[in-house]
Amino acid sequence: MFERVAVIGVGFMGGSFALACKEAINCQVFGVDINPEAIKKGKDLGVIDEGSTNLENIREFDPQLLVLATPVRTFIPISQSLRHVLSPDCIVSDLGSVKGKLVYRMEEILGERFVGGHPIAGTEKAGVENAIKDLFKDKRFIITPTQRTDLLAKEKVSSLWKGLGSLVEEMDPYLHDFVFGAVSHLPHAIAFALIDTIQKLSKEIDLFRYSGAGFRDFTRIAASDPIMWRDIFLENTQEVIKGIDAFIESLLLLKNLIEKGDEKALQEYLAFASNKRKNINQ
Ligand code: NAD
Repeated sequence: MFERVAVIGVGFMGGSFALACKEAINCQVFGVDINPEAIKKGKDLGVIDEGSTNLENIREFDPQLLVLATPVRTFIPISQSLRHVLSPDCIVSDLGSVKGKLVYRMEEILGERFVGGHPIAGTEKAGVENAIKDLFKDKRFIITPTQRTDLLAKEKVSSLWKGLGSLVEEMDPYLHDFVFGAVSHLPHAIAFALIDTIQKLSKEIDLFRYSGAGFRDFTRIAASDPIMWRDIFLENTQEVIKGIDAFIESLLLLKNLIEKGDEKALQEYLAFASNKRKNINQ
């Protein structure tokens, strides 16, 4: 397996991945982050062995695997810089929440050694200090190869994630963006928008003071990192907009049933949602 792994972005996901790899394959980890504090914390916490704020310093470490764990809009500029510092046989992968055309753009820069991936695990907390060693155990890892992806590179990345305890599933990059646009990006957009709504309704009275468990459960993900989510929305724009339009339609239907006082139809609408939610496998 890999003896030397580099992680770009020593944050929550990069840190969790580094910890999991160290435990599973006992590799050395080199971290790169634009924030020197992240490198310092990463070293102090034993998440990374060495680190730098300068991408060029990876050259000497000569990783066999490099994983991008920064906000998705940094992937292209970082990949362009990486071309000159990596040895040709270093496999490159990522933990980004968007795939689609981003995967093909990465491939144009890095070639067939690039293997797109997205762990379906996380929290609303950012930063290496929140990294969790077992984050990926029993969670899905979506691998998004293309026609061009090197088969051996794909197998190695897949085996690594199986070794971390993940359930590896292969998916087309564009299908990935449709699926996670709907079940992940849309709920985050709605949670952010709900906070905005309650703020607007709080003219005379601070409504947030009266929020109970339901409101807190529903909006937990609105505490997520704004830069990470700005990038996700701007990289998966088409699917996120489609999802928001579909949501507005559902909300208008609900509004209409309430306005009309249509008891039967309203109960059916709510019963369908309630049953569906109860039957989702956790
Ligand atoms: P984070 O904010 O905890 O960490 C990101 C780190 O990247 C920070 O330390 C930041 O300083 C660093 N960084 C930013 N720009 C950089 C650059 N140009 N060069 C080097 N370092 C840079 O965020 P996170 O939650 O770890 O998310 C990282 C990636 O993981 C994102 O692409 C996100 O889409 C993906 N992801 C996150 C989750 C989650 O639940 N948090 C789940 C699945 C996938």
